[in-house]
Amino acid sequence: MDTLSTGDTLAPVFTEIETILGKDTYDMWLRPASFGFEGQTLTIQLPNQFWQKTIQSRYEHIIKDAFLKHTGLEITVSYIIKEIKDPVQTVLQSTPIPSPVQTAAPVIQKSPFPARLNDSYRFDNFIESPSNRFAYKAAQAVVNKLGNRENNPLVIYSTPGLGKTHLLHAIGNQILQQNPAARVLYMSGEEFVSEYIEALQNKSSESFRKKYRSLDCLLMDDIQFVAGKAASEGEFFYTFNALFESGRQIVLSSDRTPHELGLEERLSSRLLSGIITEIKKPNLETRIAILRQKRDSINFDIGDDVISFIAEGIQTNVRELEGSLFRLVSYCSTHGVIPTIPVAKELLADILTQEEQRLAVNVNAIKKVVGKHFKIDMDDFTSKRKTQSVAWPRQIAMFLCTELTDLSLPEIGREFNRDHSTVVHARDLVKEKIKSDPFFSAEINQIISDIKAVDKK
Ligand code: ADP
Ligand code: MG
Repeated sequence: MDTLSTGDTLAPVFTEIETILGKDTYDMWLRPASFGFEGQTLTIQLPNQFWQKTIQSRYEHIIKDAFLKHTGLEITVSYIIKEIKDPVQTVLQSTPIPSPVQTAAPVIQKSPFPARLNDSYRFDNFIESPSNRFAYKAAQAVVNKLGNRENNPLVIYSTPGLGKTHLLHAIGNQILQQNPAARVLYMSGEEFVSEYIEALQNKSSESFRKKYRSLDCLLMDDIQFVAGKAASEGEFFYTFNALFESGRQIVLSSDRTPHELGLEERLSSRLLSGIITEIKKPNLETRIAILRQKRDSINFDIGDDVISFIAEGIQTNVRELEGSLFRLVSYCSTHGVIPTIPVAKELLADILTQEEQRLAVNVNAIKKVVGKHFKIDMDDFTSKRKTQSVAWPRQIAMFLCTELTDLSLPEIGREFNRDHSTVVHARDLVKEKIKSDPFFSAEINQIISDIKAVDKK
């Protein structure tokens, strides 16, 4: 089948369809389809009949209207079913079949230069709850009082998947909505470091600096990547100060508290001078509300009982919560299956088990089992002793904490009377050994099942 070429006159048609349906719905139902257009017939190729019925009944009229508006043609739509060989695998793991039209340009973004914002992360689709209320309010306060000393910088920290990136983009989008001429830039700490290194190599540090100096608001995500790299940290401090002194807004996110970042003193105290707020794990009601919002935005029938089942099972990470819902929806729409609790149970078994383990295992069980296995005392896990016979089991225990608990690196560090970088080092060392030594890997597996047995008692 001929496919539509990009950049031709039909691009605005699909942009319009995406705008009307919303990004989530478009991604869910139309992006996996292929389109062909000949004469006045649009052919849509889809994986199954269920999919066809959904598009026919809900979206066909929107597609037709968009064609009429942009091309003046009254089109007919025909469907071709072409089953995907291994539907679950394809839908769940491959990237979606690219649609013939590029993603619509973000609607809100009108900054004078690329702000790098994702317009699907907004305040209006962020569910406010006791666990994130302070961060949410502080983020809104930043928009309304840009650069105000009281809110500058705003630092948001949390374990992964709890909405830091979402809030950073929401701030940027809202600023641009209120003032399209504002100069806003979103970037990750990692990007900052790599752009800085590139600038050094190309001897273009001056233009690198200039880019930041002209900003009204810098949104830097995951600044833990900047911390500890002396040169980039110095450059970041320089950028930070230039912005701060001229009353520009800075918003930062991190996977740990500013204290735990191990930053240079001068930078650390600057960060501490603004607002620092943590996002905690959402409670059950919030998790249900997040899933319901997602369900409504993709327009898929899925019962509240199933929503509650997922929300009860997945507690520690909103990204996984949403991912589970999408996995279920993809599976059910591909197979024309109604989503029920038994289907969800089976399909999400791996994630649910992982989550159970994460919640169940505690540090003491890990220490107990590892201590017994290597014949060391409980005190040795926190002692200063560095002999290999003690240090190695301690590193193994730290590694197991990163795998089996949902504690953050600094939290694990505290359990062993050490800092987070020691935990990172231990984790990497043990991982490497597991990869290269099958006997050791088997030994670790044995230890893990012993830990689970202890934990159940
Ligand atoms: P982090 O940056 O903290 O790792 P993200 O901002 O990437 O987390 O959030 C992960 C996913 O969960 C995103 O899709 C985000 O939209 C969603 N999410 C997190 N918290 C909320 C919330 N309170 N309301 C709605 N969606 C949320
Ligand atoms: Mg993030």
